[in-house]
Amino acid sequence: MKQQQVKDWTCEDSAELYGIRNWGAGYFDLNDSGEITVKVPAGDGETRAVSMMEIAQGAMERGLGMPLLLRIENLLDAQVALINESFGRAIESCGYNNVFRGVFPIKVNQQCQVIEEIARAGHPFNHGLEAGSKAELIAALSTLDNAESLIICNGYKDEEFINLGLQAQRLGVQVFFVVETPSEVETIITCAEREQVRPNIGVRIKLASKVGGYWNATSGDRSIFGLGSNDLIAMVDQLRRHDMLDCLKLLHYHLGSQVPNIRDIRTGVLEACRYYADLVEEGAAMGYLDLGGGLAVDYDGSKTNYTHSKNYSLDEYCVDVVEAIMGTLDSEGVAHPVIITESGRATVAYSSVLLFDILDTTRFEPVELEHTKITEDDHPMLRNLQDAAGNITAKNLQESYNDALYYRDEVRSLYLHGQVSLRERANAENLFLQAAQKIRTLLDEAEEIPVDLQALPEVLSDIYYANISVFQSLPDMWAIDQVFPLVPIHRHDEAPTRSAIIADITCDCDGKIDRFIGRQEEQKTLPLHPLREGEDYILGTFLVGAYQETLGDLHNLFGDTNVVNVRINDDGSVDYSREIHGDSIADVLSYVEYRPQDMFEHFRKLAERAVKDGRISPQQRKQILHTYTASMSGYTYFEK
Ligand SMILES: *Cc1c(COP(=O)(O)O)cnc(C)c1O
Repeated sequence: MKQQQVKDWTCEDSAELYGIRNWGAGYFDLNDSGEITVKVPAGDGETRAVSMMEIAQGAMERGLGMPLLLRIENLLDAQVALINESFGRAIESCGYNNVFRGVFPIKVNQQCQVIEEIARAGHPFNHGLEAGSKAELIAALSTLDNAESLIICNGYKDEEFINLGLQAQRLGVQVFFVVETPSEVETIITCAEREQVRPNIGVRIKLASKVGGYWNATSGDRSIFGLGSNDLIAMVDQLRRHDMLDCLKLLHYHLGSQVPNIRDIRTGVLEACRYYADLVEEGAAMGYLDLGGGLAVDYDGSKTNYTHSKNYSLDEYCVDVVEAIMGTLDSEGVAHPVIITESGRATVAYSSVLLFDILDTTRFEPVELEHTKITEDDHPMLRNLQDAAGNITAKNLQESYNDALYYRDEVRSLYLHGQVSLRERANAENLFLQAAQKIRTLLDEAEEIPVDLQALPEVLSDIYYANISVFQSLPDMWAIDQVFPLVPIHRHDEAPTRSAIIADITCDCDGKIDRFIGRQEEQKTLPLHPLREGEDYILGTFLVGAYQETLGDLHNLFGDTNVVNVRINDDGSVDYSREIHGDSIADVLSYVEYRPQDMFEHFRKLAERAVKDGRISPQQRKQILHTYTASMSGYTYFEK
């Protein structure tokens, strides 16, 4: 970064650099003090903005240290309302003759606090839930309290699953069983006849349309779930034989998650409508069309059909869906069905932010040593290296770099053969770093960067050590190279003069973050501020509400982080609720079958023996055991 730029840096420069207003979707912005704000709709139709740094400090004062997962309830409410209102508008403007009934797929964030909040916020819209397993059905039945909302049951269903759903139907709950495999039809028929309940049956079809994006394996012929046209007709005949065609009411498909291209959404609807019309023709009752999930989140804010983005707005999505359904069904004279979507990602992504502090940094710069002077006594290779480092100009960057690299590697090899000392090698490493840093600085001014030097800024970037486990808190970042917006939540009135990658504290070489969203393309380093002595430096990973919370694992026994729900009131005050302290060390050890009480006994015996042997005093034993139990009940993360 040029000196002038650093001096005149403003919050606007930061907003631009980190793309905050692109991915922030109006929910995240910056204030004049250089802090990220969360902006929520208020009762008066305006918005309220609160600094995330203030929210973080409030949580820390309440004993909820970093890392901390913030769930911003207002954003969950806002997204639920937005999806329903947007479909409402599309239905009205197109003159569609039926309603929208969204369901939230529990698997996307199963946390009780989230599901309860969605049920609460969704109540005015009759928003329901989608369950993919018995456990999720039980969660749905225990949360929803609205006779108009739907519960859609997907996934493999055994008799117990089906019986539970049928009993719930007796209680007035609108449960739908979506047939995913041909063999399920028989089970549903048997159970329904035994229980004397007319079930609501849906069927998942395999669409031939293939979609772009990461999760496209869910669509097409080889998708694991869903019936092909041959199985579908067999099912219709089977239901007809049992006089149950009036129970077949719903057609479902799921293209996969995060569909970035609106064209694929539209193609899916068109194909599904063909099936829908033919099922009506076959005599099935129908009435519901369930488009599954796939509504994408613009993680990088680029508004493109790139994997981590989407090239459509929510309003366009809704209008396209409604128009596509009408366009197909009207010409067949088929009545408009209730439109169901199972949007998970788009509903919850915005509402969670993972905050964490930076513990330390490593710079690839020369280390200060006491004796650095290269003398006549040093190996000639060191003197060559020194000369190479001294002769760098803007005109010979590539050549100088090659020389420095060559001499450094020569010194390393001489060291291996015992021909230079450890001190000489240390001096050589320092000289090399000095040369490389100088070349990097000159590259900033260069008009054209030689190909071989393009990776230099990345190679020389800092490592910032973050108090998180990527495996626990950001599993998709590690497993499938998902990128999330990652930004400091303060100091945006200062230029971020460092360039870094992030390492977590699992000491696993995969426990790192080295892909970041960028203005045009993905970046390999992230601009950050230098740490300040005695001051927290807090980063936020945004848009992590979907899929990240329960897919995480206990790698290196780092457990769940602290979590707190936050609600921003109309007067701008902040309520903290549903505080959940992260796993203690005893908790994570018991997950892997240790028994903390037995472990304590073992340790106590060790201490007692030391007292007997005269190595420690009984008072010291007390202190040692206290330290042990305090650790046992402590947070698994770095505590300050
Ligand atoms: C995962 C899944 C969803 C959720 O998809 P999103 O892209 O998160 O909206 C919906 N329906 C089914 C059947 C799913 O498997």
